[in-house]
Amino acid sequence: MRVLLTGAAGFIGSHLSDRLIADGHAVVGVDNLSSGRLTNLAQLRAERRFEFVEADAAEPLSVSGPFDWVMHLASPASPPRYMRDPIATLRVNSEGTRHLLELARANGASFFLASTSEVYGDPQEHPQPESYWGNVNPIGPRSVYDEAKRYGEAVAMAYHGQYRVPLRISRIFNTYGPRMHPEDGRVVSNLIVQALHDQPLTVYGDGQQTRSFQFVDDLVEGIIRLMAVDYDRPVNLGNPVEWTVLELGQLIKSMTGTGASLVFEPLPVDDPRRRRPDIGLARELLGWEPQVPLEQGLRRTIEAFRAELASSARVEAGAS
Ligand code: NAD
Ligand code: UDP
Repeated sequence: MRVLLTGAAGFIGSHLSDRLIADGHAVVGVDNLSSGRLTNLAQLRAERRFEFVEADAAEPLSVSGPFDWVMHLASPASPPRYMRDPIATLRVNSEGTRHLLELARANGASFFLASTSEVYGDPQEHPQPESYWGNVNPIGPRSVYDEAKRYGEAVAMAYHGQYRVPLRISRIFNTYGPRMHPEDGRVVSNLIVQALHDQPLTVYGDGQQTRSFQFVDDLVEGIIRLMAVDYDRPVNLGNPVEWTVLELGQLIKSMTGTGASLVFEPLPVDDPRRRRPDIGLARELLGWEPQVPLEQGLRRTIEAFRAELASSARVEAGAS
Protein backbone atom coordinates (compact mmCIF):
# COMPACT_ATOMS: atom_id res chain seq x y z
CA MET A 1 0.00 0.00 0.00
CA ARG A 2 1.02 3.62 -0.51
CA VAL A 3 0.21 5.74 2.56
CA LEU A 4 0.08 9.51 3.02
CA LEU A 5 0.71 10.14 6.72
CA THR A 6 0.56 13.62 8.26
CA GLY A 7 2.37 14.30 11.54
CA ALA A 8 5.05 11.78 10.49
CA ALA A 9 7.91 13.52 12.33
CA GLY A 10 5.98 13.50 15.61
CA PHE A 11 6.05 11.01 18.43
CA ILE A 12 3.26 8.67 17.29
CA GLY A 13 3.61 9.43 13.56
CA SER A 14 7.26 8.36 13.51
CA HIS A 15 6.54 5.04 15.25
CA LEU A 16 3.63 4.41 12.89
CA SER A 17 5.86 5.24 9.89
CA ASP A 18 8.42 2.69 11.14
CA ARG A 19 5.75 0.04 11.43
CA LEU A 20 4.22 0.69 8.00
CA ILE A 21 7.67 0.54 6.39
CA ALA A 22 8.50 -2.66 8.31
CA ASP A 23 5.24 -4.17 7.03
CA GLY A 24 6.35 -3.49 3.44
CA HIS A 25 4.30 -0.38 2.61
CA ALA A 26 5.43 2.93 1.08
CA VAL A 27 4.93 6.09 3.14
CA VAL A 28 4.84 9.75 2.16
CA GLY A 29 5.30 11.52 5.52
CA VAL A 30 4.13 15.12 5.82
CA ASP A 31 5.03 17.40 8.72
CA ASN A 32 5.63 21.11 9.34
CA LEU A 33 8.11 20.28 12.14
CA SER A 34 6.25 22.50 14.63
CA SER A 35 6.48 19.93 17.43
CA GLY A 36 7.98 17.01 15.48
CA ARG A 37 11.65 16.48 14.72
CA LEU A 38 13.53 15.04 11.78
CA THR A 39 15.64 13.04 14.23
CA ASN A 40 12.49 10.95 14.87
CA LEU A 41 12.76 9.84 11.23
CA ALA A 42 16.56 9.44 11.05
CA GLN A 43 16.20 5.62 10.91
CA LEU A 44 14.14 5.95 7.70
CA ARG A 45 16.48 8.35 5.88
CA ALA A 46 17.99 5.66 3.64
CA GLU A 47 14.69 3.85 3.13
CA ARG A 48 13.56 4.28 -0.47
CA ARG A 49 9.93 3.49 0.37
CA PHE A 50 9.83 6.50 2.72
CA GLU A 51 9.58 10.07 1.46
CA PHE A 52 9.38 13.19 3.64
CA VAL A 53 7.53 16.36 2.63
CA GLU A 54 7.75 19.47 4.81
CA ALA A 55 4.36 21.16 4.54
CA ASP A 56 1.46 22.60 6.52
CA ALA A 57 -1.32 20.00 6.69
CA ALA A 58 -3.92 22.73 7.29
CA GLU A 59 -3.49 23.70 3.61
CA PRO A 60 -4.23 21.56 0.55
CA LEU A 61 -1.10 19.47 -0.09
CA SER A 62 0.72 19.22 -3.39
CA VAL A 63 1.61 15.53 -3.26
CA SER A 64 1.31 13.05 -6.07
CA GLY A 65 -0.89 10.03 -5.62
CA PRO A 66 -2.05 7.43 -5.92
CA PHE A 67 -2.61 6.67 -2.23
CA ASP A 68 -4.38 3.71 -0.68
CA TRP A 69 -4.56 5.37 2.72
CA VAL A 70 -4.60 8.98 3.94
CA MET A 71 -3.76 9.02 7.66
CA HIS A 72 -4.17 12.33 9.50
CA LEU A 73 -2.12 12.64 12.69
CA ALA A 74 -0.79 16.20 12.31
CA SER A 75 -1.86 18.39 15.22
CA PRO A 76 -0.33 20.04 18.24
CA ALA A 77 -1.07 17.41 20.87
CA SER A 78 0.04 18.56 24.32
CA PRO A 79 -2.18 21.03 26.19
CA PRO A 80 0.55 23.73 26.53
CA ARG A 81 1.36 23.47 22.82
CA TYR A 82 -2.20 23.60 21.55
CA MET A 83 -3.07 26.43 23.92
CA ARG A 84 0.00 28.35 22.69
CA ASP A 85 -1.22 28.12 19.11
CA PRO A 86 -5.02 27.89 19.26
CA ILE A 87 -5.80 28.96 15.68
CA ALA A 88 -3.26 26.57 14.11
CA THR A 89 -4.74 23.78 16.25
CA LEU A 90 -8.27 24.55 15.10
CA ARG A 91 -7.16 24.85 11.47
CA VAL A 92 -5.18 21.63 11.11
CA ASN A 93 -7.97 19.61 12.73
CA SER A 94 -10.84 21.27 10.83
CA GLU A 95 -9.73 22.69 7.46
CA GLY A 96 -6.80 20.24 7.39
CA THR A 97 -9.06 17.25 8.01
CA ARG A 98 -11.43 18.36 5.24
CA HIS A 99 -8.59 18.90 2.71
CA LEU A 100 -7.23 15.44 3.52
CA LEU A 101 -10.66 13.88 3.17
CA GLU A 102 -10.84 15.51 -0.28
CA LEU A 103 -7.45 14.02 -1.09
CA ALA A 104 -8.65 10.58 0.04
CA ARG A 105 -11.79 10.97 -2.04
CA ALA A 106 -9.84 12.04 -5.14
CA ASN A 107 -7.52 9.02 -4.75
CA GLY A 108 -10.23 6.52 -3.86
CA ALA A 109 -8.23 6.05 -0.63
CA SER A 110 -9.34 5.10 2.88
CA PHE A 111 -9.08 7.81 5.55
CA PHE A 112 -7.72 7.39 9.09
CA LEU A 113 -8.30 10.05 11.75
CA ALA A 114 -6.23 10.29 14.93
CA SER A 115 -8.98 11.42 17.26
CA THR A 116 -8.67 11.59 21.01
CA SER A 117 -10.14 10.74 24.40
CA GLU A 118 -10.47 14.54 24.75
CA VAL A 119 -13.72 14.27 22.77
CA TYR A 120 -15.13 12.98 26.09
CA GLY A 121 -13.96 16.16 27.89
CA ASP A 122 -14.35 15.94 31.68
CA PRO A 123 -16.38 12.74 31.52
CA GLN A 124 -19.54 12.14 33.51
CA GLU A 125 -19.48 8.46 32.50
CA HIS A 126 -16.63 6.26 33.68
CA PRO A 127 -14.91 4.40 32.08
CA GLN A 128 -15.66 5.97 28.71
CA PRO A 129 -17.27 3.79 26.00
CA GLU A 130 -17.50 5.02 22.40
CA SER A 131 -21.24 5.57 22.89
CA TYR A 132 -20.61 8.38 25.43
CA TRP A 133 -21.11 11.83 23.86
CA GLY A 134 -18.78 13.70 26.18
CA ASN A 135 -18.75 16.76 28.41
CA VAL A 136 -16.69 19.46 26.70
CA ASN A 137 -16.62 23.18 27.51
CA PRO A 138 -17.02 24.66 24.00
CA ILE A 139 -15.32 27.97 24.86
CA GLY A 140 -12.73 26.89 27.47
CA PRO A 141 -8.98 26.89 26.79
CA ARG A 142 -9.01 23.20 25.79
CA SER A 143 -11.84 23.68 23.30
CA VAL A 144 -9.46 24.56 20.44
CA TYR A 145 -8.26 20.97 20.56
CA ASP A 146 -11.32 19.10 21.86
CA GLU A 147 -13.88 20.79 19.63
CA ALA A 148 -11.61 20.67 16.58
CA LYS A 149 -11.17 16.91 17.02
CA ARG A 150 -14.94 16.55 17.48
CA TYR A 151 -15.44 18.49 14.25
CA GLY A 152 -12.80 16.25 12.62
CA GLU A 153 -14.89 13.20 13.53
CA ALA A 154 -18.06 14.92 12.26
CA VAL A 155 -16.58 15.93 8.90
CA ALA A 156 -15.02 12.49 8.45
CA MET A 157 -18.38 10.82 9.13
CA ALA A 158 -20.01 13.24 6.65
CA TYR A 159 -17.51 12.36 3.89
CA HIS A 160 -18.09 8.72 4.65
CA GLY A 161 -21.87 9.15 4.54
CA GLN A 162 -22.08 11.46 1.52
CA TYR A 163 -19.10 10.35 -0.62
CA ARG A 164 -18.52 6.81 0.72
CA VAL A 165 -14.91 7.54 1.72
CA PRO A 166 -13.85 4.43 3.70
CA LEU A 167 -13.13 5.57 7.25
CA ARG A 168 -11.31 4.57 10.44
CA ILE A 169 -11.37 6.73 13.60
CA SER A 170 -9.25 5.92 16.63
CA ARG A 171 -9.94 7.76 19.88
CA ILE A 172 -6.48 7.68 21.36
CA PHE A 173 -6.02 7.82 25.14
CA ASN A 174 -2.86 9.21 26.83
CA THR A 175 0.05 7.60 25.02
CA TYR A 176 3.73 7.84 25.96
CA GLY A 177 7.08 6.40 24.93
CA PRO A 178 10.45 7.12 23.35
CA ARG A 179 10.59 10.10 20.92
CA MET A 180 8.25 12.33 22.93
CA HIS A 181 9.73 15.81 22.77
CA PRO A 182 11.52 16.61 26.07
CA GLU A 183 9.73 19.99 26.12
CA ASP A 184 6.41 18.57 24.95
CA GLY A 185 4.71 19.55 28.21
CA ARG A 186 2.70 16.37 28.82
CA VAL A 187 2.87 14.74 32.20
CA VAL A 188 5.01 11.66 31.41
CA SER A 189 7.73 13.58 29.55
CA ASN A 190 7.68 16.49 32.03
CA LEU A 191 8.10 14.27 35.08
CA ILE A 192 10.80 12.06 33.52
CA VAL A 193 12.85 15.02 32.24
CA GLN A 194 12.52 16.80 35.59
CA ALA A 195 13.55 13.65 37.48
CA LEU A 196 16.58 13.09 35.22
CA HIS A 197 17.67 16.68 35.91
CA ASP A 198 17.02 16.20 39.66
CA GLN A 199 14.52 19.03 39.50
CA PRO A 200 11.19 19.05 41.39
CA LEU A 201 8.50 16.92 39.75
CA THR A 202 5.49 19.15 39.01
CA VAL A 203 2.14 17.68 40.02
CA TYR A 204 -0.80 19.87 39.04
CA GLY A 205 -3.63 20.23 41.56
CA ASP A 206 -3.65 17.63 44.33
CA GLY A 207 -2.61 14.90 41.89
CA GLN A 208 -5.80 12.91 42.52
CA GLN A 209 -6.98 13.33 38.90
CA THR A 210 -6.56 10.12 36.91
CA ARG A 211 -5.28 9.09 33.51
CA SER A 212 -4.70 5.69 31.85
CA PHE A 213 -1.31 5.53 30.15
CA GLN A 214 -0.70 3.51 27.00
CA PHE A 215 2.73 2.60 25.64
CA VAL A 216 3.18 3.68 22.03
CA ASP A 217 3.87 0.15 20.67
CA ASP A 218 0.44 -0.96 21.89
CA LEU A 219 -1.22 1.98 20.15
CA VAL A 220 0.58 1.31 16.86
CA GLU A 221 -0.51 -2.34 16.97
CA GLY A 222 -4.11 -1.20 17.60
CA ILE A 223 -4.02 1.24 14.67
CA ILE A 224 -2.62 -1.40 12.29
CA ARG A 225 -5.37 -3.83 13.33
CA LEU A 226 -8.02 -1.13 12.94
CA MET A 227 -6.86 -0.46 9.37
CA ALA A 228 -7.36 -4.14 8.58
CA VAL A 229 -11.03 -4.39 9.63
CA ASP A 230 -14.08 -2.91 7.97
CA TYR A 231 -15.45 -0.64 10.71
CA ASP A 232 -16.23 3.01 10.08
CA ARG A 233 -17.07 4.34 13.55
CA PRO A 234 -14.80 5.53 16.39
CA VAL A 235 -12.80 2.95 18.36
CA ASN A 236 -11.10 3.66 21.70
CA LEU A 237 -7.42 2.73 21.80
CA GLY A 238 -5.96 3.05 25.27
CA ASN A 239 -4.70 1.16 28.28
CA PRO A 240 -7.54 0.60 30.76
CA VAL A 241 -5.30 0.63 33.84
CA GLU A 242 -6.00 3.91 35.64
CA TRP A 243 -3.47 5.84 37.75
CA THR A 244 -3.64 9.06 39.71
CA VAL A 245 -1.12 11.66 38.59
CA LEU A 246 0.34 11.54 42.09
CA GLU A 247 0.93 7.78 41.79
CA LEU A 248 2.60 8.35 38.42
CA GLY A 249 4.88 10.99 39.98
CA GLN A 250 5.84 8.66 42.83
CA LEU A 251 6.54 5.82 40.40
CA ILE A 252 8.77 7.96 38.17
CA LYS A 253 10.56 9.31 41.23
CA SER A 254 11.35 5.83 42.47
CA MET A 255 12.23 4.41 39.04
CA THR A 256 14.69 7.23 38.23
CA GLY A 257 16.13 7.27 41.76
CA THR A 258 16.02 11.08 41.83
CA GLY A 259 16.36 12.82 45.17
CA ALA A 260 14.08 15.61 43.92
CA SER A 261 10.66 15.95 45.52
CA LEU A 262 7.15 16.30 44.13
CA VAL A 263 5.85 19.89 44.09
CA PHE A 264 2.22 20.87 43.70
CA GLU A 265 1.25 23.53 41.15
CA PRO A 266 -2.18 24.93 40.17
CA LEU A 267 -4.49 22.66 38.23
CA PRO A 268 -5.04 23.98 34.67
CA VAL A 269 -8.57 25.20 33.82
CA ASP A 270 -10.98 22.43 32.73
CA ASP A 271 -8.41 19.67 33.42
CA PRO A 272 -10.44 16.42 33.23
CA ARG A 273 -10.78 14.79 36.66
CA ARG A 274 -10.62 11.23 35.43
CA ARG A 275 -10.09 9.25 32.27
CA ARG A 276 -10.13 5.55 31.48
CA PRO A 277 -11.07 3.85 28.23
CA ASP A 278 -13.67 1.15 27.91
CA ILE A 279 -11.85 -1.03 25.36
CA GLY A 280 -14.54 -3.69 25.00
CA LEU A 281 -15.09 -2.74 21.35
CA ALA A 282 -11.37 -2.89 20.45
CA ARG A 283 -11.06 -6.26 22.22
CA GLU A 284 -13.99 -7.70 20.28
CA LEU A 285 -13.36 -6.06 16.91
CA LEU A 286 -9.56 -6.17 16.78
CA GLY A 287 -8.67 -8.95 19.22
CA TRP A 288 -6.48 -6.26 20.72
CA GLU A 289 -5.52 -5.16 24.19
CA PRO A 290 -2.43 -3.40 25.55
CA GLN A 291 0.50 -5.69 26.35
CA VAL A 292 2.95 -3.29 28.00
CA PRO A 293 2.41 -2.50 31.70
CA LEU A 294 3.22 1.04 32.85
CA GLU A 295 6.46 0.16 34.70
CA GLN A 296 7.83 -1.63 31.63
CA GLY A 297 6.91 1.17 29.23
CA LEU A 298 8.27 3.80 31.61
CA ARG A 299 11.58 1.92 31.87
CA ARG A 300 11.99 2.08 28.08
CA THR A 301 10.92 5.73 28.00
CA ILE A 302 13.27 6.74 30.83
CA GLU A 303 16.17 5.00 29.05
CA ALA A 304 15.37 6.85 25.80
CA PHE A 305 15.24 10.22 27.57
CA ARG A 306 18.45 9.43 29.47
CA ALA A 307 20.24 8.71 26.17
CA GLU A 308 18.83 11.81 24.49
CA LEU A 309 19.71 14.15 27.37
CA ALA A 310 23.24 12.68 27.56
CA SER A 311 23.75 13.19 23.84
CA SER A 312 22.51 16.80 23.93
CA ALA A 313 24.80 17.43 26.95
CA ARG A 314 27.74 16.08 24.88
CA VAL A 315 26.80 18.36 21.96
CA GLU A 316 26.59 21.39 24.30
CA ALA A 317 29.93 20.50 25.92
CA GLY A 318 31.52 20.18 22.46
CA ALA A 319 30.14 23.55 21.39
CA SER A 320 31.48 25.44 24.43
P1 NAD B 1 3.43 15.20 18.39
O1 NAD B 1 3.36 16.66 18.72
O2 NAD B 1 4.67 14.48 18.71
O3 NAD B 1 3.11 14.97 16.86
C1 NAD B 1 2.29 15.82 16.10
C2 NAD B 1 3.01 16.08 14.78
O4 NAD B 1 2.18 16.89 13.95
C3 NAD B 1 4.32 16.85 14.97
O5 NAD B 1 5.35 16.22 14.24
C4 NAD B 1 4.02 18.23 14.41
O6 NAD B 1 5.18 18.88 13.90
C5 NAD B 1 2.99 17.91 13.35
N1 NAD B 1 2.11 19.03 13.01
C6 NAD B 1 1.39 19.82 13.85
N2 NAD B 1 0.69 20.73 13.14
C7 NAD B 1 0.98 20.49 11.82
C8 NAD B 1 0.58 21.10 10.61
N3 NAD B 1 -0.27 22.15 10.58
N4 NAD B 1 1.07 20.60 9.45
C9 NAD B 1 1.93 19.56 9.44
N5 NAD B 1 2.37 18.95 10.56
C10 NAD B 1 1.88 19.41 11.74
O7 NAD B 1 2.17 14.53 19.11
P2 NAD B 1 1.67 13.01 19.11
O8 NAD B 1 1.46 12.63 20.50
O9 NAD B 1 2.53 12.18 18.26
O10 NAD B 1 0.24 13.17 18.42
C11 NAD B 1 -0.06 12.68 17.13
C12 NAD B 1 -1.57 12.69 16.92
O11 NAD B 1 -2.19 11.81 17.85
C13 NAD B 1 -2.20 14.06 17.10
O12 NAD B 1 -3.23 14.23 16.13
C14 NAD B 1 -2.81 13.97 18.47
O13 NAD B 1 -3.93 14.82 18.61
C15 NAD B 1 -3.22 12.51 18.54
N6 NAD B 1 -3.32 12.03 19.91
C16 NAD B 1 -2.21 11.82 20.66
C17 NAD B 1 -2.36 11.40 21.98
C18 NAD B 1 -1.18 11.10 22.87
O14 NAD B 1 -1.39 10.82 24.04
N7 NAD B 1 0.05 11.13 22.43
C19 NAD B 1 -3.65 11.19 22.51
C20 NAD B 1 -4.73 11.45 21.70
C21 NAD B 1 -4.58 11.85 20.39
N1 UDP C 1 0.14 17.27 34.72
C1 UDP C 1 0.90 17.36 35.88
N2 UDP C 1 2.19 17.80 35.77
C2 UDP C 1 2.76 18.15 34.59
C3 UDP C 1 1.98 18.04 33.40
C4 UDP C 1 0.67 17.59 33.52
O1 UDP C 1 0.42 17.06 36.97
O2 UDP C 1 3.93 18.55 34.59
C5 UDP C 1 -1.24 16.73 34.84
C6 UDP C 1 -2.30 17.47 34.04
O3 UDP C 1 -2.82 18.55 34.78
C7 UDP C 1 -3.32 16.36 33.82
C8 UDP C 1 -2.48 15.09 33.70
O4 UDP C 1 -1.22 15.41 34.32
O5 UDP C 1 -4.15 16.24 34.94
C9 UDP C 1 -2.23 14.65 32.27
O6 UDP C 1 -1.74 15.76 31.55
P1 UDP C 1 -1.23 15.70 30.07
O7 UDP C 1 -0.91 17.10 29.66
O8 UDP C 1 -0.17 14.69 29.93
O9 UDP C 1 -2.46 15.15 29.22
P2 UDP C 1 -4.04 15.45 29.22
O10 UDP C 1 -4.39 16.46 30.28
O11 UDP C 1 -4.28 15.96 27.85
O12 UDP C 1 -4.64 14.15 29.51
